[in-house]
Amino acid sequence: MKHLTYLKTIRKFCVECMGGSPKYVADCPSYKCLLYSYRNGKRPKSEKAKYSPLKSIRKYCIECVGTSNEVRNCSMPECPVYYYRFGKNPKLAGKRMKSKSIPLKLF
Ligand code: SF4
Ligand code: SF4
Repeated sequence: MKHLTYLKTIRKFCVECMGGSPKYVADCPSYKCLLYSYRNGKRPKSEKAKYSPLKSIRKYCIECVGTSNEVRNCSMPECPVYYYRFGKNPKLAGKRMKSKSIPLKLF
């Protein structure tokens, strides 16, 4: 199954939040919302975002259901940000460890 990028999932989430209106997303007044900086599906150019997009999703999800355990057990797979709710990109799972492994030096 093909998944949207995390920035696009935030965008989709925000459009749904605003009843399907991209215009309302642009004018969203909830600047304290954890997804606010990425609501247009892009990294902000002018403002400095407090958290990365993935961390913002994670924090939003914890706020949504209360605890990290509840995020794990979230029963809304249709939610646009569900795939990234752990604050990590599942596609990269295990890849970082491999790239960081230090080759053995043979003397
Ligand atoms: S930034 Fe928050 S309040 Fe605003 S549209 Fe997105 S999810 Fe809704
Ligand atoms: S994935 Fe689940 S916990 Fe996260 S915002 Fe959606 S419904 Fe809430």
